[in-house]
Amino acid sequence: MDPRIVTRKLETLRAFAVEEVKTLPAWSRRTALHLEPGRYAFDGKWERTAIPDRIAAGRTVFYRTTLRVPAALPRDDAFLFFDLDDLEGQLFVNDEAYAGVDGNHLRIPLPAGKSLRLVLEFLSVPKLFCKPELAAKTGCFLGARVGVVDRAFEALCDELQFAFEAISVCSDERRKALLEKLVESTCLAIDLTLPREALVVEVQRARTVFRKQLATIRPDPEAGRVFAIGHSHIDTGWLWPIRESIRKCGRTFSTACRMLEQHDEYYFSCSQPQHYAYTKAHYPEVYRQIKRWVKAGRWGTDGAMWVEADCNITSGESLVRQILYGLDFFKREFGTTTRICWLPDVFGYNASLPQILKGCGIDHFYTYKLHWQARNVFPYSLFHWRGLDGSEILAHIPNAVNAYNGTPNPHQLSQHWDWHRQKAEYPEALFPYGYGDGGGGANDRMLGMLKTAQGSFPGLPALRTGPLGRFFDDVDKAAPDLPVWDGELYLETHRGTLSTQGRMKRANRTSELRLRDAEVLASMAALSNRKVSTKPLRQAWETTCLHQFHDILPGSSIGMVYDEALRDHETVQTTAGAVIDEALQAVMPSDRGASAGLCLFNSLSWPRHDVVCVEAPSKTIRSVIDADGEAHPVQIVKQYSGRSALVLDGAAVPAMGYSVLGFSSKACADAPVMTVTTTRLETPLYRIRLNRDGAITSLYDKTHKRQILEPGKPANDLQLFQDGPELEDAWNVHATFEKRRYPFSGTTTVEVLETGPLRGIVRVTRQHRATTIEQDLIVYAHTPRIDFVTRVDWQERQTMLKAAFPVAIRSTRATYEVQFGAVERPTHHNTSWDAEKFEVAAQRWVDLSESGYGVSLLNDCKYGHDIRNNVLRITLLRGTTWPDPKADEGEHAFTYSLFPHAGNWTEAETVRRAWELNAPLTAVTPVQAAPYHRSLLTIDGPAIVQTMKPAEDGQGIILRLYEPHGARGPVTVRAPGISRVTETNLIEAPITDLKATNGRFHFSIQPFQIRTFKLKAQ
Ligand SMILES: [Zn+2]
Repeated sequence: MDPRIVTRKLETLRAFAVEEVKTLPAWSRRTALHLEPGRYAFDGKWERTAIPDRIAAGRTVFYRTTLRVPAALPRDDAFLFFDLDDLEGQLFVNDEAYAGVDGNHLRIPLPAGKSLRLVLEFLSVPKLFCKPELAAKTGCFLGARVGVVDRAFEALCDELQFAFEAISVCSDERRKALLEKLVESTCLAIDLTLPREALVVEVQRARTVFRKQLATIRPDPEAGRVFAIGHSHIDTGWLWPIRESIRKCGRTFSTACRMLEQHDEYYFSCSQPQHYAYTKAHYPEVYRQIKRWVKAGRWGTDGAMWVEADCNITSGESLVRQILYGLDFFKREFGTTTRICWLPDVFGYNASLPQILKGCGIDHFYTYKLHWQARNVFPYSLFHWRGLDGSEILAHIPNAVNAYNGTPNPHQLSQHWDWHRQKAEYPEALFPYGYGDGGGGANDRMLGMLKTAQGSFPGLPALRTGPLGRFFDDVDKAAPDLPVWDGELYLETHRGTLSTQGRMKRANRTSELRLRDAEVLASMAALSNRKVSTKPLRQAWETTCLHQFHDILPGSSIGMVYDEALRDHETVQTTAGAVIDEALQAVMPSDRGASAGLCLFNSLSWPRHDVVCVEAPSKTIRSVIDADGEAHPVQIVKQYSGRSALVLDGAAVPAMGYSVLGFSSKACADAPVMTVTTTRLETPLYRIRLNRDGAITSLYDKTHKRQILEPGKPANDLQLFQDGPELEDAWNVHATFEKRRYPFSGTTTVEVLETGPLRGIVRVTRQHRATTIEQDLIVYAHTPRIDFVTRVDWQERQTMLKAAFPVAIRSTRATYEVQFGAVERPTHHNTSWDAEKFEVAAQRWVDLSESGYGVSLLNDCKYGHDIRNNVLRITLLRGTTWPDPKADEGEHAFTYSLFPHAGNWTEAETVRRAWELNAPLTAVTPVQAAPYHRSLLTIDGPAIVQTMKPAEDGQGIILRLYEPHGARGPVTVRAPGISRVTETNLIEAPITDLKATNGRFHFSIQPFQIRTFKLKAQ
């Protein structure tokens, strides 16, 4: 039979399956602007409206009516049918959120009750948020009716349609022919011209025959299986603001509750505790229902992180917090736990993730995104993923036609199995289905397909469903011999997200560091028997976690998302700042008899001699005196009305502790001398030459007697590239950017800003069209770092700015810091896999070393890098135009530093230097105390402290350390007053007690291992 006839017949049959009972009565409406959850600016009062009703783009519209339900209605089969165009919304029944209504969800089960107060809340033209060109468009409400569905009739429609579609994907010719015959004979058996009553009887008869004949076509026993799970991906902030995502949660989750009531086969899996928290706050009636479905085992709280977080930029500690707070929420609210990390849509997965997940009790990892590779096909769909430290977890990356927003139709099910790579090892692939990205979830049609496909269907893989965890548990039980992928899951696309929306990256880094300092200082106070409340930090952490969502932190959301996120980060930093101030006061020594001095705090776990800027209460200070009576020079930056801004250097501050220094008016005799001009800088460490652009043409290491730069090539070479036009330009950097380098067009000025015994500053100001880049090149007498403190007024569009450092180093491998460790990547493009890594992620540093010498490039908030041959580059700014036309326009501030060193990056302790750039000493001045120093915790051995925080249960201090170099060895922790130590996992569950004597304990650590301990004083 001609497929066009079958298609028409199926459409006609479907229309006959519903018997219309009544059209809903007159509607009143009211429009508004949605301001925030539950808050609206209404345009006027309720008024009667005619249907169809057109609504301006971007407005929220409420419709209301009262429905008196006809008494004789068969309630189980009765539905509300809506008709609309470009509206997305929520149906409230008797003031409670009942179901989402949108283009994919137009049919809602009729609620119980004789008289129903119906209110619809719609957003008109939802895409307006990201497409301002739609402003003149309108959404349209075309009304609603009540109808009764003949279930057998509808089931035949579903089954016949499914069989019809299966014909085109069935690879076996005999089954295909049998299916064709079956579809044709069933279509012919139904006479569409019959009156309805007779038609219904005929359809029921046809269905019995259809099913009987279908059962005679045997499915292929080797066709494999898919495990279908209901799902709906909701981007927490993306092409709409977070406040819209909150409404999406209400719509999607209330729909899911209706689907669970209607279909026993429906299992729904939903990640992101943040979304549950929103639902609890704004849709409490839906939340209560969710709780019931979770209890019934039909709704899975799967997915460990607070939100589905970015894994390139988010720090290691933040990833731990994502899971710590995520799992804590599920446990508290639902009494559930999960072993699944659900990150379908994240733009690359760092090499530390297996260890982080395993350390949090997560054994299973699911993603999809690796199938977006631009060039190289990822070879596995089910495998063991081995991380930096050797930890392994079970990972599943099934390929799908429609990513994680599948429809269980024959085409998608068949492809899903075809693309499964481990067919021989384990013949099943996970298939998430349901409308998503902007939420929605499955509808009745999808469940019709699922029911037809369940068990087996000729020509298709078998299908089963159930709770998500069952899929992974069954793989574990079967223990198949799976391949191993060792190291990062680099995503060959979306490389631009390492740099887009630079202010967001800076805000996130700053908040991460401020929260760390607040926790470390509060813990120092606790170790000094002083209590500082860290309660406000939990909300601050949750906010930080929220904005690490995989479109927010990567920079791929609309502008309004960033306005809100940056404001939220300011609040986070203010909260952390208040705890820091309180903790400093609690820890700081005081001695009223002493003369004024200053106190320097070190939150890092090694002693430091860093340069620090302080404000002193006098104009006569010429040196500072440490606890050993030694004088250290100061450099006066500025003097004003009885005060001065000073730079000081050289005084040691102990690990996780502080030094009190006294002010002295006596100058140090042996202060170093530096020469600083606009073309030449000479320090005790370097001889540097600058060209007229302020770039470095010569950098000579006086200690090691070598020229660091490649001859003839300037360093800190600021490079402009045309960056676009590109599809999804906020996400993507095109491989050919290198060929589109264009020169600076404006003037450059170079001036000496500061010179003295401790540091010298040359300011380079460059103009390019309307953009101004101001860089302070800072050199130090003792610190081997060369800082580039940068402020930019960025006005370029579709332009990328990089800083390049061509160095005299030969190596085929470069090293990049990742969360809790470092990875090596090639500096060449030998293979297609190497070539695709033309822009890669690093946390705080990258390094290129040869035997005996190397150069590290540190940063305080940048992530995009590339090291090709002997050139290190850091991506400073982009100017993408979609989805935020003004992305990165305006003011930016950031610092990167060149750190040349003898030995390789481990011998040079690049890790520590990068930590120091990011977590500077905190100076408090003036303090009334005599010179003094104290360490509250010290570490001996190859580990450094990532985190010291009050334990979640309020009992003791959590200490998290990691091995940053890929080395192993014994570690001793000294913390006076500590008498009990328990090793815990990353989320603070106890593992084993350790012996602590005289405030010290020992353990051994392995390459890149993370260890967590709970410390208690007796
Ligand atoms: Zn997403």
